[in-house]
Amino acid sequence: MLSNLKKSVLIVDDEAVNRKLLGYMIESEYNVIYAENGVQALSVIRDNVGIISLVLLDLLMPKMDGYEVLKHMKRDKHMKLIPVIVLTSENSAEVKSLKLGAVDFIQKPYSMPEVILARVRRSIELVERSRLIHTTRNDALTGLYTREYFYEYCANYDTYNFNVETDAIAVNVNRFHLINELHGHNYGDNILQAIAEEIKHITDSKKGMACRCAPDTFFIYCPAGLNYKKLLAGIDRAVRREAESSSRISLRMGIYEKCDKSVGIAQRFERAIIASNVLKNSYTSDYMCYDLKMHENEMFGEKLMNDMDAAIKEHQFKVYYQPKFRIDGDEPALCSAEALVRWNHPQYGMISPGVFIPLFEKNGLIHELDLYVWQNAAHQIREWKRSIGVSVPVSVNVSRVDIYYPNLADTLQAIRKKYSLSEDELILEITETAYTDDSFQFENQLERLRKLGFKLEMDDFGSGFSSLNMLTTLTLDAIKLDMSFIKNICTNEKDAKIVKLVKEIADFLGMPLIAEGVETEEQYRLLKEIGIDIIQGFYFSKPLPEAEFEQFITGEIPVKPISRKAPVNS
Ligand code: C2E
Ligand code: MG
Ligand code: MG
Repeated sequence: MLSNLKKSVLIVDDEAVNRKLLGYMIESEYNVIYAENGVQALSVIRDNVGIISLVLLDLLMPKMDGYEVLKHMKRDKHMKLIPVIVLTSENSAEVKSLKLGAVDFIQKPYSMPEVILARVRRSIELVERSRLIHTTRNDALTGLYTREYFYEYCANYDTYNFNVETDAIAVNVNRFHLINELHGHNYGDNILQAIAEEIKHITDSKKGMACRCAPDTFFIYCPAGLNYKKLLAGIDRAVRREAESSSRISLRMGIYEKCDKSVGIAQRFERAIIASNVLKNSYTSDYMCYDLKMHENEMFGEKLMNDMDAAIKEHQFKVYYQPKFRIDGDEPALCSAEALVRWNHPQYGMISPGVFIPLFEKNGLIHELDLYVWQNAAHQIREWKRSIGVSVPVSVNVSRVDIYYPNLADTLQAIRKKYSLSEDELILEITETAYTDDSFQFENQLERLRKLGFKLEMDDFGSGFSSLNMLTTLTLDAIKLDMSFIKNICTNEKDAKIVKLVKEIADFLGMPLIAEGVETEEQYRLLKEIGIDIIQGFYFSKPLPEAEFEQFITGEIPVKPISRKAPVNS
């Protein structure tokens, strides 16, 4: 069992007696880990990056010698940060090993234990200090630490205060980009400076430390026991002193109380962020502590992320199809389908994409999954043409992450070609919020897709912050209204008005408007009255496996017409 207070040193030597001797000399100050050869050493180092503070490396060993180990470490961006002291009996080896990145050199046979211990100590200190100096220390706007420096600082703090219970706290400004847009960047900067000043004041008095880790996010690491309500109220007051009375600025604070110190620093703050994100849509300042439920969710997410690779290989993903109907004629007519993925997990059963897509987006695997779905959908379109003789266009979802793939357009074109599909048959749904991530990249990518003839539907329209802005710069083939507008369309006059307004804009731009999430006849009736072109929703059908969907194509499932009489309760 490693003692958490001590730093760890790896001793690599093929001779047991040498390993023991060195270990004995330094074990009073360090946790000692051992490896017998270069191969074993690299594997131990790889598994313990961030934990091993120093490597004592023998040069002459069977399997893989010390030079090879140094070369491997030098090539790896994490391993190369770990200092190495070389152990050898040959003077001539010194230059070669120093060139390969070794920081010092200990001559065999080992004679003076106190000298060896001092050299180990000095090498570790030197490297740690230079790492601190090399990371940019302060954020130019607020004077607080930068994230990199802050993390190093927290780790150092822990080394010497391991038994002190600490909290990781994240403070975010709600809708900060709107504040910037409405009041200008100078105003936004002043607000951030006011927050930073108050945080600095608090951390100074409570022996804590703080950084600005993103434009509108601050991290605080300090001994547990703060009064969170008071802390938030203090920052809130500082904001109000700075803000114009007309602007309503609110903060959200997430706290990971009494951190588990076996969890990495970055992950501790991720937990604080998870807690603060629960309050994301709030308009008043509030705080939230990371709790057991969030922890279980996080663990479930981790488990799913671990299972993803195998799930793709084992075809656990199923593509479902939800019909879309044209409603501008007398009777609704099937016009296309949306491909929606589900995960048939061996342990948890069917999992909906709302749960796993955000995780896939986080670890980048979404592109692989999307490729799988696009291929499946393309194959299905061809199958329906072949077996039923009907061409059913299918729209597939393109993730915000896919937008960053430079060969996205070529990949999609290759799929279209492979299954001999026309330009109208494979449609792309692109979520509006991706535009907010990087509008330049977004515009370029969409332009490339358009050039190749792809039809583009803007998904979740109205959910982002640049909806109208985007319409003026992009050419699209259809707009899909965000479901939230449809949900209350019959009860909330404002929502109905917005839908009408978007319909006018769509008409002006000559684009069809699609409403999704239509669940009731009442909604359907109203949308038809407004003049919506296409609808999709549980009212007609849930997403279905391809075999069941086929019944819509063959007409075995009659499409619900609007009843002649209005329902009694409408
Ligand atoms: P989306 O693209 O906006 O898809 C519409 C979602 O609304 C689907 O949820 C659908 O099942 C649901 N829905 C349809 N009609 C109704 C209704 O009447 N009422 C309600 N309450 N919901 C309805 P689903 O299948 O859970 O997918 C959620 C989101 O996950 C999708 O939203 C899409 O953003 C994403 N997604 C699904 N499949 C894929 C995929 O293959 N790739 C990517 N990148 N994202 C996908
Ligand atoms: Mg969609
Ligand atoms: Mg949508």
